[in-house]
Amino acid sequence: MPPTGDASPELAKAASAAHFKARRLSLQEDLERARAAIDGLDCWGTTLARPQEMKLLSRRLTPIFEQGFHGFPERIAETDATFASDPGGAWSELEQLTRELVSRISDTLTLVEGAFLRASGFDNGLCRTADCLLDEIAQQARIHWQRTVLPAEREQARPGAWLIGWRFPDFSIWSLPLMAHELGHYAVDELEDWNRERLARKLLDGGWTEAEELRALVSPTELEELFADAFGAFVLGPAYVACLMWRASPARV
Ligand SMILES: [Zn+2]
Repeated sequence: MPPTGDASPELAKAASAAHFKARRLSLQEDLERARAAIDGLDCWGTTLARPQEMKLLSRRLTPIFEQGFHGFPERIAETDATFASDPGGAWSELEQLTRELVSRISDTLTLVEGAFLRASGFDNGLCRTADCLLDEIAQQARIHWQRTVLPAEREQARPGAWLIGWRFPDFSIWSLPLMAHELGHYAVDELEDWNRERLARKLLDGGWTEAEELRALVSPTELEELFADAFGAFVLGPAYVACLMWRASPARV
């Protein structure tokens, strides 16, 4: 039976509500699956060479990831209540939540992949060694560091979860000093002087000078790289420099 003149707007409204509900449930499921991946770490991989790595990573990282997901289930549920009175606002909020969750879910994948590689022994135990080294440096530098090193696409510090990536598949001892550089990125916002002031970020942002021409000379991102290099050289000395020289290529000069 063809719809009457009044039925079409009702039908469109119902279809729109069903569409919204499907998207909301899909986002909720993404979140639940990502959390289940983290929760499952300590009981997976028991046939792997080093299953204890899973337990160790789970203990160390679950609280950090749980903190990252904090408040999302409630915010997703709230969009449902908003939809009845303000569909446009509810869609905007759902899109915003999706954007915010993308990087957290991506960090979860990095963690799960990296945990399996560590537990398989593929990294020759070097990520574990790097964890011990960075714990020691952080303790000496009085930086609160409870994160971890995982095999990844490239050396990197992931700002969201503060995972440090060890470039896969280069598991040689000469990559170890580079991890101190990555910790240097974290140290920018954590290092305190004797007055317990955190000055590094202010220094790198150029907030200490009003001279525009000085600020324009080097970008804060480049300065942060230099800071991380200085940090690496300071805490590891010749080993850090030797590692950089080994990585250098005349083709890149
Ligand atoms: Zn860097």
